[in-house]
Amino acid sequence: MSKLGNIPVQAKSEKKRTNPLARVFDELIQFCQSRSMFMLHYCTGCGAIELPPAMTSRFDMERLGIQPMVTPRQADILLVTGYVSVKTLKRVILTYEQMQSPKYVIGICSCTVNGGMYWQSYATAKVLNEYLPVDVYIAGCMPRPEAVIMGLRRLMSNIENGKGNAWKDYYERYDYYLGNQQHLFGDDWQTPVDVIGEAKFYDLEGEETYGEHTRTLEQHQEPLEAAVMRVKL
Ligand code: SF4
Repeated sequence: MSKLGNIPVQAKSEKKRTNPLARVFDELIQFCQSRSMFMLHYCTGCGAIELPPAMTSRFDMERLGIQPMVTPRQADILLVTGYVSVKTLKRVILTYEQMQSPKYVIGICSCTVNGGMYWQSYATAKVLNEYLPVDVYIAGCMPRPEAVIMGLRRLMSNIENGKGNAWKDYYERYDYYLGNQQHLFGDDWQTPVDVIGEAKFYDLEGEETYGEHTRTLEQHQEPLEAAVMRVKL
């Protein structure tokens, strides 16, 4: 067991929800969540050029309750806007893991679906949902702002109907995602985020949370060291 595994996690309450109004509140919360989305746009490829018109006066996505956010810790949606090189994918995964749940991923452009025109490139990751749980894909090379807004509206309606649950898959099948990541980045791949601890926190530990790849991670995982900044006088 790594040192990270010793970090205590908050136990989930065993209390059952007995209030008959609980479902009504759930639906209200889902509605509010779907109308207040902060979007982190990780501009990986050429599809990012469609975001300025989608965000600004012509298409104005803010009228839908969606607005850009500059840090992953306060964002709900991670937009991956085009091809993802192997190097970039590491940063995309790190960014995703820093976001708080519930969190959503949208893959824009055909390159995130199947590699697009880079399908034969050795340097790009081809299928984004092998590495992260993708909620909605918006295909096209490149998709127009109308398509981007339609994809966002699809996500909003999924959240409103209680179907925006792809983020849970990352915890329930962490071994699968980690295995694909290790295949691309090497056995010593690790991020500073304790994903298994989070799976316990959200009570989403499943049989597929653990496996040969999480065992490999434990063998290579180094304890995190605090960054130290020194000022030269
Ligand atoms: S699908 Fe086309 S526009 Fe989008 S990232 Fe790939 S090459 Fe660029």
